[in-house]
Amino acid sequence: MAQEYFNYIDGKWVAAASGKTFASHNPATGELVGRAPESEAQDVARAVEAAARAFEKWRKTPAPRRAEIIHAAADLVRTRKQALGELLTREMGKVLSEALGDVQEAVDMGMYMAGEGRRLNGLLVPSELPNKWAMAVRDPLGVVGIITPWNFPIAVPSWKIFPALVTGNTLVWKPAEDTPVLAVEFVKIFEEAGLPPGVLNLVTGYGVPAGEALVEHPQVKLISFTGSNEIGKTIAIRCAQLGKRVSLELGGKNAIIVLDDADLDLALDGIIWSAFGTSGQRCTAASRVIVTPNVHTKLAESIADRAAKLRLGNGLLPTTDVGPLINQDAVTKVHHYTDIGRGEGAALLVGGERGTEGDLAHGHFYKPTVFDRVLPTMRLAQEEIFGPSLAIIRARDIDDAIRINNSVNFGLSASIYTSNVNKAFAAMRDVTTGIVYINAGTIGSEVQLPFGGTRGTGNGHREGGGPPVLDVFTEWKSIYVDYSGRLQRAQIDTDSLVQ
Ligand code: NAP
Repeated sequence: MAQEYFNYIDGKWVAAASGKTFASHNPATGELVGRAPESEAQDVARAVEAAARAFEKWRKTPAPRRAEIIHAAADLVRTRKQALGELLTREMGKVLSEALGDVQEAVDMGMYMAGEGRRLNGLLVPSELPNKWAMAVRDPLGVVGIITPWNFPIAVPSWKIFPALVTGNTLVWKPAEDTPVLAVEFVKIFEEAGLPPGVLNLVTGYGVPAGEALVEHPQVKLISFTGSNEIGKTIAIRCAQLGKRVSLELGGKNAIIVLDDADLDLALDGIIWSAFGTSGQRCTAASRVIVTPNVHTKLAESIADRAAKLRLGNGLLPTTDVGPLINQDAVTKVHHYTDIGRGEGAALLVGGERGTEGDLAHGHFYKPTVFDRVLPTMRLAQEEIFGPSLAIIRARDIDDAIRINNSVNFGLSASIYTSNVNKAFAAMRDVTTGIVYINAGTIGSEVQLPFGGTRGTGNGHREGGGPPVLDVFTEWKSIYVDYSGRLQRAQIDTDSLVQ
């Protein structure tokens, strides 16, 4: 019998009102990981109502007290890092070292946001009038709706849950249908850390109806969404119609630029790690290499050679370099792009097929794939594939490389390998992505800086860390205190002050 998991509503673990459940499977082996509630609109409504009831008390709980609970939760995540990491590999597939990194990011974010409990800086500025005080503080929004993807099933929710809580919001979380068990284990930690009932509520289930019901609910003031462009755009349109705030963190088509003067061994390590880590299923994964002519052939051969040697397998085995894709649809999509690349006339150097040998037959594996002679306008070079598929594009020089980098409808992460400091600084100035790396791959952000992208990657918000994440989850409230005891008119009575 598969273990059954439950929604967390108003501090209680409950089944969906319909009693329906859905299965979560290990993408490497097909093993059943567990069953979770298939929630519908009425479950979401119960969760939102619980969050709304809990809001008044939580927002009035002093931020340092809120932060103590957050700190305790982050500490529990740290204590359970190994167990959570192993579960993460079982349910989502990424290799264990990366799964442990996913969990560590939640520890980092929790600790960072616990610190915010004693900071939450506002603004204090001089007034233009005498005997008047001018300042601005952050107010929570109320009930916030959090919708997350499966590829960082602990880290991405932590980027949203910790800042939402420290700023005094209550929330309802709808995790991805592929990783519900991890969501339950993460929420159990908040319960153990002492979070009051109703402050954090979990509803598992499908995007439609559960995610959609969260977007639609009139008491939800903000949708913080991380996922695909397609769904993000639908949600943004709906939120605009409903007059609701929405924060979007969407897809990427990230590139590594390699110039003739680069340290090629260093670049090669960064490319392999960024393109094939997490089987290419990171929003920051490198899916393009843009290379200048003198090193093109050598680099392409080296990438193909290294990619061919990567070992596919179950992420729990120490011999595995690359784990499975999340499900069979993902395998079909990646293979579809292999067909597109071939059809467009790109040169397939390695991979381009499913991994089906031995135990791989039980999971959703795709061989690391490298295309050379890709033109910047090809679909292979423009669209997010979200798998282990890399396109090599030749550029004339640094200006051409940066132009190609900036010419996609995504703007999350980019990197440049060069030993010329002037070129590095030119790239820092001219690359138009939200994250830029010099002599490092496209992945590996840290929580103390903003995370997010330009163009189609989002709508201008930044989550994942840094002070701007607080802007997503708060409203600014400007407060003027006039202690002059008389009527003072801003912009009008100021002239008389100048003698
Ligand atoms: P997705 O298909 O867009 O799903 C994301 C979440 O939205 C899931 O929980 C999904 O539920 C839910 N959902 C689906 N339809 C919905 C609807 N109509 N209304 C409300 N919610 C709905 O994305 P994914 O495949 O899980 O994740 C991969 C994508 O996320 C990639 O594009 C990747 O680049 C992006 N990503 C971006 C970042 C970033 O910070 N920029 C980070 C990580 C991932 P179901 O699971 O039931 O479909």
